[in-house]
Amino acid sequence: MSHAFTLANRVANLGVETAFVVAGQAAAHAAAGNRVYPFHLGDLNLATPAHITEAACRAVKEGKTGYTANVGIVELREALAEEFNRTRNTSYTEANVAVQPGGKPVISKFLLTVMNPGDEVLYPNPGFPIYESQVEFHGGVAVPYGTVPGESNFTFDLDQLERAISDKTRILIVNDLHNPTSAECSAEDRRRIAELAVKYDLMVLLDEAYFDIHYDGQSTSIITEPGMKERSVVLYTFSKRFAMTGWRLGAALGPDEIITIIGKLNVNDESCTNQFVQWAALEALGGDQQPVRDILDILKQRRDLCVDLLNDIEGVSCFRPNATFYLWPDVTEAMLNKGFSTYQEFIESVLKHAGVSMCARSHFGTPLPGESRKYLRLAYSGIELAAIEEGLTKFKAYLES
Ligand code: PLP
Repeated sequence: MSHAFTLANRVANLGVETAFVVAGQAAAHAAAGNRVYPFHLGDLNLATPAHITEAACRAVKEGKTGYTANVGIVELREALAEEFNRTRNTSYTEANVAVQPGGKPVISKFLLTVMNPGDEVLYPNPGFPIYESQVEFHGGVAVPYGTVPGESNFTFDLDQLERAISDKTRILIVNDLHNPTSAECSAEDRRRIAELAVKYDLMVLLDEAYFDIHYDGQSTSIITEPGMKERSVVLYTFSKRFAMTGWRLGAALGPDEIITIIGKLNVNDESCTNQFVQWAALEALGGDQQPVRDILDILKQRRDLCVDLLNDIEGVSCFRPNATFYLWPDVTEAMLNKGFSTYQEFIESVLKHAGVSMCARSHFGTPLPGESRKYLRLAYSGIELAAIEEGLTKFKAYLES
């Protein structure tokens, strides 16, 4: 029986995370009996530290299975406020924290709280595809700014960002320690971003999903700059730091007036975040941090192996970023050598001939005018050293054949 129905107009503006499409193609290739080397998805193949899983089990056994306050249990909110005060020089209390089922929901809840239809929102492109999707879905206008190669890593194109500001610009989204390029702001960049935000009176979403995936030294948040605390909401997540992607736990931290509205959105959407997961998160923040250091050590070894192997391939060049678990090699010459002009054909052919599954620049937004170099994105968070070696050796053999 067919039923005629009309979809809401806004549905046309809803995007997807196209890395999941690549994952589907990789799964189909594996199901056909082929070996696949998974460099496509930003998930970790490392277990959540045992003391965190034990805390979750304990909470379930103790009956901590009911609803919590919409903004989360006060113990976790206080612990997150303390964590921020220690690492980001804020003076937050629990009133500045709304726990979320993942970091991702912070994006839409922030936009719903501060963005009006027609407002222009600056967002990084290449970048996490959900920014553009959510801005457009909720009636905003997504305005991209790019990244450029620097001496030892990518940096954000802050000149382009400034040029893109108009009298309709209300919001700036920054993802320092960037997915997909691993771009990291210098102290000068942080200062300039803050000055622009203050000068043009922008509300700012600081997506700090990779703040703690930093190999040498500590990350510094843009929120430490003058004028930023009162205009910024930080996206925090337990996903990457504690290898908890599937637990779905994050938080929005910012001015209490905004956090109160985000809490109201929690009531309207999911009521609250899963209670025993929140107790586990309290253990994650306050308990033994050695497993977190172990995760970073493993990731760093993988990074080094990947970078060395990629730079050994003709027509490929890759920075060695100090943060995140992504690489963004320039493959312009390699693609030319193999006679490919489109990413889709190229990555499909690499999967078919080398079994290596990866994302391309096109999965992180439409390339900007004037962009001529070609890039791939490799995530090394879900693949062991031996498989990295084998996969990238096959990738080299294919590209140089
Ligand atoms: N922001 C960025 C830049 C990400 O790469 C991700 C996940 O890949 C997220 C936010 C959301 O992560 P989660 O919802 O697992 O916290």
